[in-house]
Amino acid sequence: MAHYTVRTYGDPVLRQPAADVEEFDGALARLVDDMVETMYEAEGVGLAAPQIGVQRRLFVYDVGDGPAVVANPRVVDASGEWRFDEGCLSIPGLRLAIVRPARVVVTGQDLDGEAVELEADEFLGRVFQHEIDHLDGVLMLERLEEAERKIALKVLRDRAMGLDTSALESQLASVGSARAI
Ligand code: ZN
Repeated sequence: MAHYTVRTYGDPVLRQPAADVEEFDGALARLVDDMVETMYEAEGVGLAAPQIGVQRRLFVYDVGDGPAVVANPRVVDASGEWRFDEGCLSIPGLRLAIVRPARVVVTGQDLDGEAVELEADEFLGRVFQHEIDHLDGVLMLERLEEAERKIALKVLRDRAMGLDTSALESQLASVGSARAI
């Protein structure tokens, strides 16, 4: 198995929509193994293929029940509203309180190409929505209100210059740990 480098903010690959997975073969199984290994090395709980530069609609996750994969996922139902601090392996160290639906139903395919339907709420529901955004070339920054997004972008700019951004960051998320996805 090989591990990949997680692409980070500024890499154009993170802004491109991914193409459907069409071949459910050994190469896909190896890619998924490598994605899971890369996710664990990065101490994340979710990883979408574009985050390692592979433009395929595929993500892996493990919220404590072992690794799992969904190919060609689609949100077919969503309800409720939940504000939750998200972290992203592609935007290291930044946590953002983001409002999304509390519960989603996702359809997709497993590694054999068989249809699956998954209902998820709370943290798992959040992981699914965050990863599907990656497949559409959308980063969590774009889920913020305009005023908050400006603050988050300033944090990223200031950090690049080596400035202390802790005061600004406290405006974007509550204090505490969030696992990155
Ligand atoms: Zn992410």
